[in-house]
Amino acid sequence: MAIYITDECINCGACEPECPNNAIYEGGVEWAVADGTGVEGTYTLEGNKTVDVNAQNTPVSDDYYFIVPDKCTECVGFHEEPQCAAVCPVDCCLPDPEREESKETLLARKELLHV
Ligand code: SF4
Ligand code: SF4
Repeated sequence: MAIYITDECINCGACEPECPNNAIYEGGVEWAVADGTGVEGTYTLEGNKTVDVNAQNTPVSDDYYFIVPDKCTECVGFHEEPQCAAVCPVDCCLPDPEREESKETLLARKELLHV
C-alpha cells in the first residue's frame, strides 16, 4: 500500500531526499510525474486519469509534506522498508489503509516509473 503523511508532520523535510521515486513534496508545492522518474509523454494515474508527465498538479496538502500515491512504491524495488518512515522523527509516515496494494502492484509501478 502507499504510504501517507499524517498531520503530525512537523515539516522537517528529512523524508523528501530519501524517496527513490521523488514522491514526496513540501506542502503547497505542485508535483509532476516526471520529477525524479524516467517517464516521458503521458502517464495514467489511479482512477484512469491520463496526464502529461510534465504537468504541474495540485498539491495533495498545503500545510504538510505529502506523498503522491501514484508515485509511491513503498520503496519496493529499491529498499527493504519505506525510507520516509525510517527517517521520520515523529513516525507520521504510515501505510494508507485506503490504498492496500500487493507487492506485485508496487513493483509494476516501480517499473513503470523508471523505464
Ligand atoms: S515509501 Fe518509499 S517510495 Fe513511498 S513515499 Fe516513502 S520513500 Fe517514497
Ligand atoms: S520526515 Fe516526517 S516530520 Fe519530517 S517532513 Fe517528512 S513526514 Fe514530516
